[in-house]
Amino acid sequence: MTASIGRVVVLLGAPGAGKGTQAQILSERLGLAHVATGDLFRAAVRDETPLGVVAKGYMDRGELVPDAVTIEMLLERLGQPDAAAGILLDGFPRNTAQAEVLDKVLADKGGRVDVAPYIEVPEADLVARLGGRWICRAGGHPYHDQTKPPKTPGVCDIDGSELYQRTDDRPATVQARLRQQLGALDAVVNYYRSRGVLRTVDGRRSIEPVADDLLAAIAPATGRRN
Ligand SMILES: [Zn+2]
Repeated sequence: MTASIGRVVVLLGAPGAGKGTQAQILSERLGLAHVATGDLFRAAVRDETPLGVVAKGYMDRGELVPDAVTIEMLLERLGQPDAAAGILLDGFPRNTAQAEVLDKVLADKGGRVDVAPYIEVPEADLVARLGGRWICRAGGHPYHDQTKPPKTPGVCDIDGSELYQRTDDRPATVQARLRQQLGALDAVVNYYRSRGVLRTVDGRRSIEPVADDLLAAIAPATGRRN
């Protein structure tokens, strides 16, 4: 079957799973346009496209941009030259309603979601990654339990002042916020699993092995389209 649009990859992962980093690597190596919905909004607003003006109205009022507007932006993006080979969606769909609408508009154009790679990281690991931030009282120097620990626990390497955690970075706060997001993500993961396009990759490892597994998961599914 010949599709009128390129391949569509939906990259899935919780906050802290490394999705943004992997999206950049994958889009570069596979020649896919990396489409993060946040960037899409910002670009449309900056360029004052008709959809950008509509989206800005919602954002200015502190409201969510409706799915219909987001989908329209995605379709516009699909039509741009750098998306000819396909796109890598990052941050969309966020729920099953959006996933269903995406399937419908892609089907109308002769396309479909080819593969949905999912970077799976257990909740406890996500909390550790997202909740490990510490700040020093004297100069605001940042530390992280996993990626940038201080030489002496609780003490700033630079000025010797005490390290503390902002409310937003405390494990309990991080976990509560994460739980809400994971519920929606689980639903989307199950949606793509039921459609046979989900490919789960163990995201507990470092960037390179995760990227290798993602590339292996994506390549066969997208290759069939050519
Ligand atoms: Zn400091």
